[in-house]
Amino acid sequence: MNTQLMCVSCNTTLVNSKGGAVFPCPQCGKHQILRCKNCREIAAKYTCPECSFTGPN
Ligand SMILES: [Zn+2]
Ligand SMILES: [Zn+2]
Repeated sequence: MNTQLMCVSCNTTLVNSKGGAVFPCPQCGKHQILRCKNCREIAAKYTCPECSFTGPN
């Protein structure tokens, strides 16, 4: 299985994790949330595919 690392906010493929963030969903902990550097900087919203939790707050 080839797991593609995709930013959950803009769907950009993260070639490497430089500047990006990967963390488990704060609510359900089941899904890895990936955010690219750009989306972190603009504080783009993300939604957990598992439980529909929205962040970053
Ligand atoms: Zn992004
Ligand atoms: Zn979740």
